[in-house]
Amino acid sequence: MKLHEYQSKILFTMYGIPIPNGRIANSAKEVRQISDELGGKVVIKAQVLVGGRGKVGGVRIAKSSDEAEEFANQILSMEIKGLPVRKVLVDEAVSISQEFYLSIANDRNTQKPVLMASSSGGVEVEDVALKTPERIIKRTIDPLLGLRDYQLRDVAINIDLDRMYWQEFGEIINGVWKVYVECDATLVEINPLVITADKRLLALDAKIILDDNALFRHPSLAELRDKDAESGPEIKGRAFGVTFIKMEGNIGCLVNGAGLAMATMDIIKTLGGDAANFLDIGGGATAEKVAASLRLILEDQNVKAILINVFGGITRCDEVAKGLMTAYNEVKPEIPIIVRLVGTNDEEGLRLLRGSSLIPAETLVEAATIAVQKAYGG
Ligand code: GDP
Ligand code: MN
Repeated sequence: MKLHEYQSKILFTMYGIPIPNGRIANSAKEVRQISDELGGKVVIKAQVLVGGRGKVGGVRIAKSSDEAEEFANQILSMEIKGLPVRKVLVDEAVSISQEFYLSIANDRNTQKPVLMASSSGGVEVEDVALKTPERIIKRTIDPLLGLRDYQLRDVAINIDLDRMYWQEFGEIINGVWKVYVECDATLVEINPLVITADKRLLALDAKIILDDNALFRHPSLAELRDKDAESGPEIKGRAFGVTFIKMEGNIGCLVNGAGLAMATMDIIKTLGGDAANFLDIGGGATAEKVAASLRLILEDQNVKAILINVFGGITRCDEVAKGLMTAYNEVKPEIPIIVRLVGTNDEEGLRLLRGSSLIPAETLVEAATIAVQKAYGG
């Protein structure tokens, strides 16, 4: 679960990480008020759960309260990467003399937390990683030992941080580490962490991702979930109990089981196609769940073909077929739907599909091959 910048900054304050003065607002009028209180020189920041807001005009620096109100009006009517802006953070503007990147994240390769820092802050870290990977310092943290003092010094030296900031920098990294551990985060990121013209270290931006599997231990954090700020289909999917993740391709996928869903996407990729989504309907899915899933896939205008891959065990193929027919009869989709059904009650399932325009396939490779062809107009 991603937290908004303003929510992340509240946690930062609780853990002693310094942030600029600021407040959240829902309207341009409120922004003017806050701007007046903060002295007129403020940064207006769109609160949406995607990165790179700066580049698309979602972060603006105002020189007066008039300008703050004007920028707030503009930003509050924006959509950033498909997400409408409903709130803006109004922060006191600071003069920056240096920008750094700092984060602690789960590293799947080492299966340990990794501390990353860079003197190339402010820009997207993915760009730095691609163009100048040597500018990113990475240090693995032993989860049992925690952060060690020598690691802090090592990082400070490698990002060329002036010695006068080491103490403060150490406290900030320790704060980040505490947030990461105590909130069960998978990412705590400050980009940029700045040295201001008046020689203070400040976290100008904040990004926290919490581990969904640990949220039950943090009821107060779970409440921070902003239901209408996450992207639509993921929430809809969660509401009827399936895991849906939108992707960029044009082949919709409906699969039972997360592993099989990933294998299905891999095969599509191998055959030259691209999946439009990940969708795991889970074990023992009912006809209703299948129908709701199919409707969800069909909402994506990019989808040019749908691949249904069900390996029936607990899941019964006839139930799946019933759900498909329900949604099919209701939506009457014009795009090709390729179905591979094997396992429990598969014959009954395939019989139910007869007479429709759904295309049955015997194997996954055959199904994926047809799906890729159809998606590209073959
Ligand atoms: P992001 O683009 O979504 O990552 O949003 P950020 O909060 O990181 O803001 C983007 C950039 O705006 C930062 O890297 C800074 O360079 C700049 N910025 C943000 N706040 C201030 C500020 O108070 N003063 C100045 N001068 N620049 C700022
Ligand atoms: Mn940023």
